[in-house]
Amino acid sequence: MPLGDLPLSRGSLDRAAHRRAEPDLVPKLLADPATRVVVIVAESMEVLPDGALAVRPPAPDDRHRLAFFLGEEVTTEAADPDSGTERTAYLAVVGDPTESGHDDWQTLRNAGVDLSDRDAGIFTTAQALANGHAVHQFCPRCGAPTEPEQAGWIRRCTRDRSEHYPRTDPAVIMAVVDDDDRLLLGRNAQWPEGRFSVLAGFVEPGESFEAAVAREVEEEVGIAVTDVTYLGNQPWPFPSSDMVGFRARATTTSLHPDTVEMAEARWFTRDEYRNALTTKEIRTPSGISIAQRLIEHWLGQRIAEIADVSW
Ligand SMILES: [Zn+2]
Repeated sequence: MPLGDLPLSRGSLDRAAHRRAEPDLVPKLLADPATRVVVIVAESMEVLPDGALAVRPPAPDDRHRLAFFLGEEVTTEAADPDSGTERTAYLAVVGDPTESGHDDWQTLRNAGVDLSDRDAGIFTTAQALANGHAVHQFCPRCGAPTEPEQAGWIRRCTRDRSEHYPRTDPAVIMAVVDDDDRLLLGRNAQWPEGRFSVLAGFVEPGESFEAAVAREVEEEVGIAVTDVTYLGNQPWPFPSSDMVGFRARATTTSLHPDTVEMAEARWFTRDEYRNALTTKEIRTPSGISIAQRLIEHWLGQRIAEIADVSW
């Protein structure tokens, strides 16, 4: 059984990627009052009291900002489905963090769960692209400045003309269970007491996801796993990952945490896990994370039904 819809995998815009090559697409859309613009500043966007992202028509200042094309919202006239569809283009504009007025804006981590599908997708994509632009200002080959192209989906070196795509780095995250159906949870050495989650780690060059799962579990807690099964994934633009979730079966149970990375690791039965939440002995990963969903997938119920103990 897959994980179901993950908070950051719900985007509903049509990316309309074919339009990115249109000459001057961004300036053209900024000149069209029908275009819808969201503003991202550092890692925040404005969320309105009704829970929707603040969306507005283009403003004159937007032309002086970094802007990128997120895609199109496709709507159908409900009363007459045969009348065709309407497409509304969305741009994200990167605002200036030194300007005031953003104090009560929200991060994707804080707002993501409660946003609509459309808005969760807009924020996730805008955050990922904004992060990509921020760290690719200079060419990794020759050091010359780069500039955005393809409506903000690549940067090109101004000297050697090489293209640089925003990165998406895969990380694996895994619910490891033993033959008694106990779940393995660990506490990272940098986390406070009581904060436990499933194990995770980056995929290395030349490595399959399944091999990364086995390597990370072995490295972090000295456990061997088999039957690595894919369950779901979601983008995780903090700053540039996609978290790919798996289930794996442990063939050994004696835990030997790598003391550099893991402060402690434990096996939990479902009853032990529920009790530890109820007594606040442990806390769970936040609701925006695939980690919480992986735990719930094993537990067979939502954590919110047990206790409000996420970090
Ligand atoms: Zn270059």
